[in-house]
Amino acid sequence: MARERVLVIEDSAETQQLLAELVLEPNGYRHLAAMDGEEGLRIALEENPDLIVLDMQLPKMNGLEVMMALKERNVDIPIIFTTVRESVDLVVQAFRLGARDYVIKPFGPLEMQEAIRRVLASTALREERDQLTQKLLEVNRQLQKQLQELNVIYTIGRSVTSLLDLNQVLNRVVDAAVYLADAEEGMLLLLDEEENELYLRAAKNVDDKIAHVLRMRVDDSVAGRVIQTGRPVFLTGERAKVVTGYLARTLLYLPLRVPDRGVVGVLGVINRKEEQSFSERDVFLLSALADYAAIAIANARLFEALEAERLKLETVLREAQEAIIVVDNENRVLLCNRAACDALDIVEAEVVGKPVEIAIPHPVLNSLFSEGYSTKRAVRCEVALNTGRTLNAQITPVPGVGQVLMMQDITYLKELDRIKSEFVTTISHDLRTPLTTIQGYIELLPKAGSLNAQQQEFILRARNSMETITALLNTFLDIDMLEAGLEMEMQPCDLVQIVEEAIQRYRPQIEQRKQELRWEPPSGIPPVGGNPYRLRQVVENLLSNATKFTAEGGWIAVSVEKDQNHVIVHVADNGIGIPPAEQPYIFDKFYRVESDETMGIPGSGLGLALVKSVIDRHRGRVWVESRPGVGSVFSFILPVLQS
Ligand code: ADP
Repeated sequence: MARERVLVIEDSAETQQLLAELVLEPNGYRHLAAMDGEEGLRIALEENPDLIVLDMQLPKMNGLEVMMALKERNVDIPIIFTTVRESVDLVVQAFRLGARDYVIKPFGPLEMQEAIRRVLASTALREERDQLTQKLLEVNRQLQKQLQELNVIYTIGRSVTSLLDLNQVLNRVVDAAVYLADAEEGMLLLLDEEENELYLRAAKNVDDKIAHVLRMRVDDSVAGRVIQTGRPVFLTGERAKVVTGYLARTLLYLPLRVPDRGVVGVLGVINRKEEQSFSERDVFLLSALADYAAIAIANARLFEALEAERLKLETVLREAQEAIIVVDNENRVLLCNRAACDALDIVEAEVVGKPVEIAIPHPVLNSLFSEGYSTKRAVRCEVALNTGRTLNAQITPVPGVGQVLMMQDITYLKELDRIKSEFVTTISHDLRTPLTTIQGYIELLPKAGSLNAQQQEFILRARNSMETITALLNTFLDIDMLEAGLEMEMQPCDLVQIVEEAIQRYRPQIEQRKQELRWEPPSGIPPVGGNPYRLRQVVENLLSNATKFTAEGGWIAVSVEKDQNHVIVHVADNGIGIPPAEQPYIFDKFYRVESDETMGIPGSGLGLALVKSVIDRHRGRVWVESRPGVGSVFSFILPVLQS
């Protein structure tokens, strides 16, 4: 049964009675009556009825004034007004002031009953809707809060990976912990393993005086218990006060766990003033933050260790006696150590980041860098500086970095080399005359009387040795002459014919070693400008090496080809090959690869030095491609003679 209270503000006692007897009572509504506007307003404010039936023409305060007064006081009671004349103005005004319905006087009881029922029903609906809206708003607010919390955790997660500054990350973690747990203070303590104490690493709202001296013993503190057990600690009320030793009403401590190292610290939130305790959700959210802090700490430690190693290496590189320049994959300078700056008269700060050809003002080094860049192999050369110093420069490609140039000062070695060469040249010259005399007498010996078979054998051996010594001296003097830049007679040369002649000379040796010679003279090879005697020496040396360093039964392939304005000669074999590390040195004087395979193979280490000197004098280039156990290809290239 409805017990809604209906206030009727109506000055006509007759209408009051009609409403009471025919409308309100039969429908179970409780009737409150007021006979004028003022009384009506007072009862409405005091009783807060469920509905007001308000006449517009009233003594003391008319209907509109009552409605206005209620509205001013923010009282929202549904109103049905009654009026004798239906003026549009009045109706609009009344509805603006919050009236829900109206009935024109005189009205029948049924009409009023319907109006009351309608308004009360719509009010009930409206209340229900308002409640629902409230509920939705609450759910929405909670979702917003959770979203906000996740957002905070996500942002912290991102800063762990993007920020390198550990201080900043840890301070953010503590800020977020205080925010998420709605706490008064937050702190992050790290373990000092030596002292077995925890010290404050980051804090929020912690009193400066406490923060400066805050250290806690692991075996004698709540935070220490977190370290020892690896579990969160949750304290409220008196217990919190007693155990922490300082005034805290509620606190929550969580372990910072680093993989492989265990618990390294504690993340804590504290309330000192309010006894507002922390929830399971706080534990959940703060655990995520603690994990992030632990990751940041582990990363920072790794980074520190790496950085220390990097600094060590960098110091070694910078302080090394050798000049070192490191360039990236685009040939831009990454590092140029002090020795390199001194040697090349450059300043590191001015060259770092610049392309090497701009940064390093030295043509030989520049071409060495571009050779290393294009061949992706280790290359070396000697660099003569304006200061008179000579450097031995090697470029090595370093995958993932670029190229490293290392240069040693070999000025004193060059000087020694010069003195040695001078000495050997003098000796060679001086030896030639007595050697010729000895050779002459050896030739004469058989003519001076008959010799027995053994004497003849001895003479043969002596003659062979003499020839070897003479050949060696001649080669040496040849190189000396070529290096001295003495005039060389040049003429058009047919390289095919030169190769033919060299092959003729070496065919017996090759056949003796049962090696297969692959050679098909090509046609249409243009002449080159050169000295035929020297060029034949080149091919002979290459052939001699090919047969010496190839096992019996192997093969040797010689070819001549034209490439645009050049002629290229290749001498290939399937012999023992040359280790990559030795390849840059084999054109040096007296350099021989020493290994079990080369042991016992005769030679002086001068052949390829002569080859290089001759080819250099012809403005050509000689190089080798070789793989140990597979074979070698020696090639030289000469410019075609311009007619
Ligand atoms: P050598 O008198 O020793 O032959 P070279 O100057 O001609 O001196 O050669 C220098 C070194 O290069 C040789 O001692 C050998 O180790 C290596 N070498 C030259 N040619 C070949 C080749 N065809 N196969 C393998 N190794 C070679």
